[in-house]
Amino acid sequence: MPTIVVSNQKGGVGKTTTCINLAAELGRCGYSVLAVDMDPQANCTSGLGVNASNLSKSLYNVLLGDIPIREAILSTAWEGISLLPSSLDLAGAEIELVAAISRENRLKRSVDAVRDQYDFILIDCPPSLGLLTLNALTAADTVLMPIQCEFYALEGLAQLMNTMTLVQTNLNPALEVEGVLLTMFDSRTNLSVQVAEEVRTHFGSKVYRTVIPRTVRLSEAPSYGQPVIAYD
Ligand code: ATP
Ligand code: MG
Repeated sequence: MPTIVVSNQKGGVGKTTTCINLAAELGRCGYSVLAVDMDPQANCTSGLGVNASNLSKSLYNVLLGDIPIREAILSTAWEGISLLPSSLDLAGAEIELVAAISRENRLKRSVDAVRDQYDFILIDCPPSLGLLTLNALTAADTVLMPIQCEFYALEGLAQLMNTMTLVQTNLNPALEVEGVLLTMFDSRTNLSVQVAEEVRTHFGSKVYRTVIPRTVRLSEAPSYGQPVIAYD
């Protein structure tokens, strides 16, 4: 029952797209998946077809200790996928939790209560290193790092590796790298090819052989609240 956090402090690299579509495919294969939307932007929530502005209970209430995690988990229209949704007020949790006891452990404690009910728990992170991301990294077994095949890719990754070391030292010694995923690859550009080579030189066997191509279908699907395997 691995808990995998999809993380990269860099914005727009394909974290949410990876989280949604990996969840959908695992669900289609017969696994039960809990998707946790740790980002106040709520892209993972809306991308799975749930309207974040209509929710009376979300991850926010869970992190603040107001409700048990079970009360916030929703079923989705997609086979095998349950969702712990985000909401806009989650941005406030980052500030409200600063003075709270065991503030980095909030998500882990909540998730522990339901961990054995899912084959996979996938956590989508915001593009920052605040308390929300630290909670996600503390709750997880492994980190899946999407890298966009463009110029600043390696800088973002260097930051993430630093963060991982900090988290391993202080919060979650068992945290491991799940894998590095090259996203938005465009075989027609030299840059994509160069970045892919460079990432493989740095991270070797941790880099998946599968590369996600840049395709307009993947970017259209979320506006219909659908994973790409449903949309196209
Ligand atoms: P943020 O840091 O803001 O949370 P993110 O890392 O979650 O961003 P996504 O939202 O998954 O990144 O992707 C950023 C944008 O790129 C989105 O508009 C998404 O639809 C688009 N996108 C992601 N992957 C692909 C792809 N393989 N081909 C084309 N467009 C893509
Ligand atoms: Mg995102």
